[in-house]
Amino acid sequence: MSLGPFGSAGVDSKRQRVVPLPHTNASMKTFTPDSSIASDVIPSANYGDRNKGRVPDMIVLHYTGMPDVEGAIARLCTAGTDVSAHYIVLEDGRIVQTVPEAKRAWHAGVASWAGEEDINSCSIGVEIVNRGHDWGYPEFPLRQTAAVIALCRGIMLRRNVPSHRVLGHSDVAPARKKDPGEKFPWHSLANSGVGHWVQPAPVVRGETLKLGTIGDSVSDLQQALARYGYGLPINGKYDGTTMEVVTAFQRHFRPARVDGVADHSTLTTLQALLASLPEEAKAVAAG
Ligand SMILES: [Zn+2]
Repeated sequence: MSLGPFGSAGVDSKRQRVVPLPHTNASMKTFTPDSSIASDVIPSANYGDRNKGRVPDMIVLHYTGMPDVEGAIARLCTAGTDVSAHYIVLEDGRIVQTVPEAKRAWHAGVASWAGEEDINSCSIGVEIVNRGHDWGYPEFPLRQTAAVIALCRGIMLRRNVPSHRVLGHSDVAPARKKDPGEKFPWHSLANSGVGHWVQPAPVVRGETLKLGTIGDSVSDLQQALARYGYGLPINGKYDGTTMEVVTAFQRHFRPARVDGVADHSTLTTLQALLASLPEEAKAVAAG
């Protein structure tokens, strides 16, 4: 087809962010993408079988945390790095699948949620291209967020993933991870039916629980966080672990202030989340 004088130039000027995808490793067997909106398949060498045939019922969202997209894709696909994810969502909204959903990708590492520790076996891992906290932590572009929403909606429908099991890496590994971080628009996802979220209670002055606090109020907080799914001991001491879990909670659910201090807003938001869990999830949380 012939392009007029404004043809290709007009298109190109609107596509400044397009990044060429690295070539597929010729030795790797390709596969049909599970998601109909995945535009490319770049098979990763890093995956195994899900333990005991565990069927995934969780989605874990990550950011790549690397300065450039080519390096991130190479790391997630090259043998020997021991890391991978099922999907990579680029900044321009393109979705690349790198591990079949039926297989166990290696994205969560040492982690836990709702009493389960083999998070890789029970989840689908989605890497969102973003340089992360160590490289300036840019905002997530709208079209990338829209792609994450569409991808997750499809996975949730196909795999019966409940909203409250769409989580961040920091939720399942609060001591080690910050991703996808406090700039990730969880509220936008929730508006489209992806993820469990409530409007956070406003930050106000008042009493707080913080590092060093001891007592029943701390046990109650730990109990509430554990009921929601976070992995932490209930010992009545606001220790380093408790502070890390509160920080992870804030990154996801109360991003206006991420300081690891359990203020009134944090406690109120946590109670509202627990109260709005579906009944079957509440039963699991209480058990
Ligand atoms: Zn991660």
